[in-house]
Amino acid sequence: MKVIVIGAVAGGATVASQLRRLSDTEIIVYEKDRDMSFANCGLPYYLGGEVTPRNKLIAATESSFKTNKSITVKTYHEVVSVSAENKEIVVKDIKNNRTFTDTFDYLILSPGATQVRLPVLQGNHVFTLRNLEDTDKINNFIETEGAKDILIIGGGYISLEIIENLKNRGLNITMLHRSSHILKSVDQDMTKHIPDILEAHGVRVLLDDEVKTLDGKTVQLKSGRKFDYDMIITALGIKPNTQFLQSSKIELTDSGHIKVNAYFETNIPYIYALGDAIQTKYRHVDYPAQIALAWGAHRAASIIAHNIVNPQSTKFNGLLGTNIIRLFDYTFSSVGITPNMLDNFDYEIVQQTQKHHAGYMLDAEQISINVYFDKKTRKILRASAFGRVGVDKRIDIIATAMIGNLTIDEFKDIEIAYSPVYSSPKDIINMLGYKAE
Ligand code: FAD
Repeated sequence: MKVIVIGAVAGGATVASQLRRLSDTEIIVYEKDRDMSFANCGLPYYLGGEVTPRNKLIAATESSFKTNKSITVKTYHEVVSVSAENKEIVVKDIKNNRTFTDTFDYLILSPGATQVRLPVLQGNHVFTLRNLEDTDKINNFIETEGAKDILIIGGGYISLEIIENLKNRGLNITMLHRSSHILKSVDQDMTKHIPDILEAHGVRVLLDDEVKTLDGKTVQLKSGRKFDYDMIITALGIKPNTQFLQSSKIELTDSGHIKVNAYFETNIPYIYALGDAIQTKYRHVDYPAQIALAWGAHRAASIIAHNIVNPQSTKFNGLLGTNIIRLFDYTFSSVGITPNMLDNFDYEIVQQTQKHHAGYMLDAEQISINVYFDKKTRKILRASAFGRVGVDKRIDIIATAMIGNLTIDEFKDIEIAYSPVYSSPKDIINMLGYKAE
């Protein structure tokens, strides 16, 4: 049996490793870019100096995969087309500028996604951040050109992580976003504090504005304002890397995501897919989910490996979209469906703000949580939280409650671990249950 994997980072390298644990099948991984198996999520923190040295970002190399796992990884090899019926792929060997075909019994697609770019933003001082190569380019530009004034465009979590890290590195940062709603995964009554948090840390925030022209270092905005920047980094959202599948018989959504079933099979049973490029479903409601986060890729990798060895033996129950971000001394987090999906439900919301542990302790900090639950079933649809301390624990409790199908009323019964330094006898989780009565 021969298995080919496309993409050698979060999903691809993990599924290849998981499969090797279960089987001695031949495994070949094709990766179009320079690097394999690096920690995407750690890249902003390397730029900010929180990860050092650089090689801590690299979990495995072609030679370590070959030696330790007998897996062949070919970097700079781009798969340009897939023939599902012939079980064949066409591969471009980028360095040697030649193409060849390869065959498979099983194919696993983990091609990830690409950062969207704005045509107006051209120049050797304009960057995006998706992989280690991008990170090296950004780092080298800052070091060799002495870049000091940096414009970061975009209002998502990657933009915020870059802002925090480059600010911590001592650079002058401006954030530009075309609307005033930053970090759409979290509720607006919480994210409205983000501009103040950024400004308190010395970041200039430009909202409801866009780049009109870029002339060398000079950026002119639609509002007419002009600023000079040594460097621009854009984080405007992503699109799935699935153009090479357009001519295959693999079913894609209108947005280009690969459709998979509960076994991560595509419409072709011997072709699986995982990671940022797929559309799967939510676990707790019957809605499609396109969630570009690492947990799903890792879970799918394990499930696919089991299903290749033992077809349809392991079923995936879906994602909750649990996400979290640190922004200087604050944490923002959410779980469940997106705010715009709530309109499809008859829901109620319960909100609570209280200290993260006993209020009489000197270092007690406020946490706010909103929980949305279905009026009839009282099951949780979504929750959003922010505060300085303890947000991660509360969102993880709510995610676990959602996995266990708990109702909002059962939040009263969650017996939290209490000492004044960790929580309160009526923790915010319990209070949400009482308030929903
Ligand atoms: P990737 O890990 O991107 O791997 C896809 C690989 O496939 C790429 O290397 C690509 O070059 C290759 N490829 C594409 N097309 C082809 C082709 N035709 N032929 C050969 N190779 C191909 N998630 C979190 O949950 N928490 C975080 O804190 C977090 N932080 C992040 C920070 C940054 C800066 C970034 C960029 C992402 C972050 N993520 C985070 C998202 C997480 O990294 C992704 O969800 C995860 O990497 C998805 O795995 P993947 O295998 O689908 O894609």
